[in-house]
Amino acid sequence: SKKTGRNISNIYRTGLNQLMEKRRALQADLEKALEEDEFELYYQPRINAKSLEIDSYEALLRWNHPQKGLVSPAEFIPVAEASGLIVDIDNWVFKRACRDAAEGLKGKHLSINVSPLGFQQRDFVKTIEETLEKTGTDPSQIELELTESMLIEDDERGLAVMKQLKRLGLSLALDDFGTGYSSLSYLSKYPFDTIKIDRNFVVALGQEKSAVAIMKVIIGLGKGLGMDIVAEGVETVEEAAFLRENECDQLQGYLISRPMTVEEIMHEVPLDIRC
Ligand code: C2E
Ligand code: CA
Ligand code: CA
Ligand code: CA
Repeated sequence: SKKTGRNISNIYRTGLNQLMEKRRALQADLEKALEEDEFELYYQPRINAKSLEIDSYEALLRWNHPQKGLVSPAEFIPVAEASGLIVDIDNWVFKRACRDAAEGLKGKHLSINVSPLGFQQRDFVKTIEETLEKTGTDPSQIELELTESMLIEDDERGLAVMKQLKRLGLSLALDDFGTGYSSLSYLSKYPFDTIKIDRNFVVALGQEKSAVAIMKVIIGLGKGLGMDIVAEGVETVEEAAFLRENECDQLQGYLISRPMTVEEIMHEVPLDIRC
C-alpha cells in the first residue's frame, strides 16, 4: 500500500541519513587524526620464497582512534578517498616510512602504498623527491605499490610519472594483481619491478583448478618480463608449498608474519615461519 511504501522510504531515508552522519563524523575525526598524530605505521614482512629470509616490509597504516581504538584502513581509507584527505594521508605515510627507512629500519627495503588520487596529484613526484632528500632516504630502499585502477587506458601521463619515479631510483610494484581488469598488457607497457598477486587468487589455489593454471601463467609471464612475483595473503602451509614449488619469488601473509611495529623489527624477534 501507499502507507507501507512511505514507511519503507522513511526507514530508507533515516538509514541513509545515519550513514551519511557517520561518514561526516568519521571524516572530521580523520582530519583531527592527522593533526593529533593518531596514525601509526606497521610493517609486514615479505620473505624470499627460497631462502625464507626477509626481503622487505610493506608499510600498513593504522589509526589509533582515541575512543574507538584501532580502526582498520578498510573502514577509513574509502572515506579519506571520497573526501580527498587521502592525499594528505599518503604524504604523511610516505614521510613517516622514509624516516623509518633512514632511522629504525635503516638498510631495509620498504614498500609503501599509494592511493590513486595521490598518484594523480600534479606535484606527486616533486613531493616524493623532496621527502627523500629531507629524510636522507636511499631511494633504492623504497618501492611504491601502485594499482592498475590508477592507470587509465593508454595512460601516457601515468607512464611518464612512473618513469620519473624510476629515475629517482625507486622500485614500482603492481598491487592487487588479479582484482581489476588486469589486462596483461599492463605488465609490458608499464615499468613495474614487482607484481603482487592478490590474496583472492591465492585463496582460489585450493579451490579452483583454473586458479592453479592461471597462477602458473602469471608467474611465468612475470618472470619472462624480469619481474618479481609476490603472493599476498598467504595463510596456509599448502598455499606456501604450491607457491614455492612453482617459483613464486616472495611470500607475504599471516602464515609468515602479522604486520609488526618498528620496535618489534628492531628487536629482531625471529619469525615463526612454518613453511
Ligand atoms: P593491501 O595494500 O592489499 O594490503 C594488504 C592487506 O592484507 C593489509 O590489510 C594486510 O594487513 C592484509 N593481510 C596481510 N596478510 C594477510 C593474510 O594472510 N590474510 C588476510 N586475510 N589479510 C592479510 P590492511 O592493513 O587492513 O590494509 C587494507 C588496505 O588498505 C590495503 O590493502 C591498502 O589498499 C590500504 N592501505 C593500507 N595502508 C595504506 C597506506 O598507508 N596508504 C594507502 N593509500 N592505502 C593503504
Ligand atoms: Ca599493498
Ligand atoms: Ca595488495
Ligand atoms: Ca587489497
